[in-house]
Amino acid sequence: MATKVAIVTGGNRGLGFEIVKGLCQKFDGVVYLTARNEERGQKAVQELEQIGLRPLLHILDVTSDESIEQFASFIKSQHEGIDVFVNNAGILDFDKAVSSFDDAKNLLDTNFYSLLRITKFLFPLLSNTARIINISSDWGLLSNIRKQNWLDTLIKDDLTVDEILQFVDEFLQAVKNGKNGFLSFAGHYSDYKVSKVAMSALTFVQQREFIKQGRDISVNCVHPGFVKTDMTKGMGDFSPERGARAPLYLALEAPQSLKGTFIWHDCHQVNWDD
Ligand code: NAP
Repeated sequence: MATKVAIVTGGNRGLGFEIVKGLCQKFDGVVYLTARNEERGQKAVQELEQIGLRPLLHILDVTSDESIEQFASFIKSQHEGIDVFVNNAGILDFDKAVSSFDDAKNLLDTNFYSLLRITKFLFPLLSNTARIINISSDWGLLSNIRKQNWLDTLIKDDLTVDEILQFVDEFLQAVKNGKNGFLSFAGHYSDYKVSKVAMSALTFVQQREFIKQGRDISVNCVHPGFVKTDMTKGMGDFSPERGARAPLYLALEAPQSLKGTFIWHDCHQVNWDD
């Protein structure tokens, strides 16, 4: 039987590192710790090797088509498919509740547009029972959005990827027009909230698409809790290990029938659009 493959983006620190660790301990297959920086990736791998775990390192910058395409070619040459894919890489500057246009663009590129690049280059390699886990946030719940037209659009059963792109694009245009445009979408940290709402919406659109195609692939998103990592400047309710609990539940334990849901840090399902 073919060796199973699990991949985590942004695996060199924080939540991603703990997800890699948990997968190395419990996943029956190989685990790729991917990182955008080789040195930081190697350091993380060495740390796991010191406790007897054996992740494989590959460089992957989720903002680069070239990097993702190269990684896809490599996986294709080495394996029969991808069984677990964790979209974890993400950025947020906790010190900036209102970002500049360039900052917002960069954030959306890392946290949201990256998912479309991964879809293009890596999803063709998914096995028929693959599990995709999108690390969203409580700031990725629909109620964070203040624009009624988008609240109405994003909950549609026939929502399309193009409509999600229009949502993100309209947000970026609003940011270009100044601070008020930024705040009117989702208040402080609007860019991060828009990125995670868009990620969550994409989760449900992609799940419906897989079901239509008759494939048994699951795509779920998860709020890991408020976790003490570099992103939160060490603030939070949970250790990274505790934060990895729900992502690992989706990767390893959830029934394959769990599809297109928003999972809370305690592994319970919540309504994304309440
Ligand atoms: P973190 O400690 O800042 O780690 C972020 C990881 O993402 C790092 O490994 C970073 O790599 C990587 N990354 C950033 N840009 C990348 C790129 N272009 N390509 C590849 N990797 C990239 O943050 P965290 O708290 O663990 O967050 C992980 C995920 O959980 C994020 O998606 C975040 O939005 C989400 N989340 C976190 C919390 C929380 O309370 N911490 C709550 C809800 C959701 P470098 O080391 O190279 O920078």
